[in-house]
Order: sequence, then structure tokens, then C-alpha cells
Amino acid sequence: MIGHVFVWGLSAAAIVIGLRPPTVMSAGNSTEKTMIYNKLTPDEERVILHKGTEMPFSGKYYLYNADGTYTCKRCGAPLYRSTDKFDAGCGWPSFDDEIPGAIKRAPDADGVSTEITCAHCGGHLGHVFVGEGFTPKNVRHCVNSISLNFVPAHEMEKTGSPKVVLASHKAPPEKAYFAGGCFWGTEYMLEKTEGVISVRVGYMGGHTANPTYQQVCEGGTGHAETAEVVFDPTKTNYEKLARLFFEIHDPTQKNRQGPDVGEQYRSAVFYVDDTQKQIAAKLIDILKSKGYNVVTELSKAGTFWQAEDYHQDYYDHTGKQPYCHFYQKRF
Ligand SMILES: [Zn+2]
Repeated sequence: MIGHVFVWGLSAAAIVIGLRPPTVMSAGNSTEKTMIYNKLTPDEERVILHKGTEMPFSGKYYLYNADGTYTCKRCGAPLYRSTDKFDAGCGWPSFDDEIPGAIKRAPDADGVSTEITCAHCGGHLGHVFVGEGFTPKNVRHCVNSISLNFVPAHEMEKTGSPKVVLASHKAPPEKAYFAGGCFWGTEYMLEKTEGVISVRVGYMGGHTANPTYQQVCEGGTGHAETAEVVFDPTKTNYEKLARLFFEIHDPTQKNRQGPDVGEQYRSAVFYVDDTQKQIAAKLIDILKSKGYNVVTELSKAGTFWQAEDYHQDYYDHTGKQPYCHFYQKRF
């Protein structure tokens, strides 16, 4: 995210939330790296800066159910929509989805759970859990109320608050799904790419709901190890990412990638719309015309099942290096 401008403005907020096209961009030039933060109280600092936890059932948004957007108390970035909020009975506000690119995940200091922070300012929010079965998305962002502000939908229509969002965002983030062998490597290579906001790893393309890594490894689920890429279309585009995908794995290997053998390691592009489909098909044709016997599957994206926490950012956490993914120019 370094290099983005973090001056929050009315029109940009509406973009991320998808309400209307931009009309005014915020002040500031494109090389500015300053972020504007709200002043925090000592209680807010304890949680947001020092990763504390508020008492359960004590926060003001735990049972709050108004229609609107939850924003970062520190920097004002939109984080969660009220439509993704549910009551997990745990005493903290719970969400089963996030605004794309708004949340960063990292292993917690306890070595067990996954901490979530505001992707824009790094402010501590809480923890995220998967596989608990509360909602069909099977994810629970457990967030401290004190880390959040709330902007009612009607107020946002009227005033343009929250006064936030990347000024550089002239369009909402988009998603792309690529499978190219072990997802640790695919994620590692794509995550370091200009314009990529975040990458998650998971499973797609099969028929088993809520698959575990164990099930996918054993075979028979039909799923491929897949990277979900959230990108800023003002800084990169689908074709650039798809080209890179074909150059960081070997698209001529069928049902394997390097030492990893099995259908879960197959090469696949899961497109979200016809535009992505056409771009990927064009790239496959170009590679074939250059003599590559491309076996990459081109299929419509289905449900993305997020993988277990320990697979996320695997190489960054372990300090290891990918063993079967490296850049090789093919175009
Ligand atoms: Zn923030």
C-alpha cells in the first residue's frame, strides 16, 4: 500500500461502497504518503494501537443493526458493511465478509489465532476465524466496537461521509482467481505485484463444500488450490495479472506443478465475467501460437472456499521461499 495517497474524500467513499461514480477527488498529490488520523482516547489507543481487547458485551456496536458502513476509528477507511454483520453471541460485533481490500490478516502474537488490522492504517481491529459454521460464508471477523465508527446509509447519501477512502481509487477493487500449483507460491508471487491490494488462498473449482486442506490433498473434491487476488483497476488490470500468472507457473503441466502432483495442483483460470474469460482465452491462444502446449483450464468462478489460516501468507510467515514458482518470460 505504500505510495498510495491516504486523503479521504466523499466521492471516493461512495466508490468503495458502490453507491455512485466519483465526482470529486480529494486534495493531495499522487506522491504524498501522509495519512490523516483521528485523535484517539487512551481507551481507544489501548485497543487500536496496543492490540488490546475490549470487554465482551461492552461495546456499542455489538447488537447494533442499523443499515450503513463500519469505518476505521483511526483513519476512517470503510471496513465492513452492515449487511455482512451477524450476531455470533460472542459479545463483539461479528461480520462474515469485509469490504474488499480493507482488512489485513496476520498471525497473532499468541501463535494460534489470526489478527485483523485496518489495511490502510494498521489499526488493530480484532481477530478472524474460519470454519465455525455461523453463516454460509463460514468466516467470522470478531471486531472490537471501539475500533469502529459507524456511518448510517442515509447519512452517507446526504453528506458523503465516511470521509474516507483511497483517493487513488477511481474504481472499486476487482477480483481475479488463479490456480497454478501450490497456492503458497501463487500467492507469494502475485502479492508482490503493483496494483494488487491483497491475496487470499483457498479452494475453487470442485464440488465439496467447506473443504479442508486434508480433503483437498486426498483428492476427489475437484478443487484446485486457488489464489483470490483483489486488485486496484486504476493501478493494474486483469490482463497484466493474467499474463503474470502464466509466467510464474508452468501452464503446460497437466494436473501437477513441479513436485506437486494431483488435480488440486492443476493450472486453472476461474473468470468472474466474460471480459476476464476473453482475456484469458486470448493469452492462452498467444502462448499456443508460440508453441506452448497450454493445458490451463478456463472455467467460470464458483464459490471460493478460504483455506485455513496457516496457509495465508505462508512464505511471509515462515520466512521460506517458494520451491516451484519463479518468473519465466513467456509472452
Ligand atoms: Zn484505519
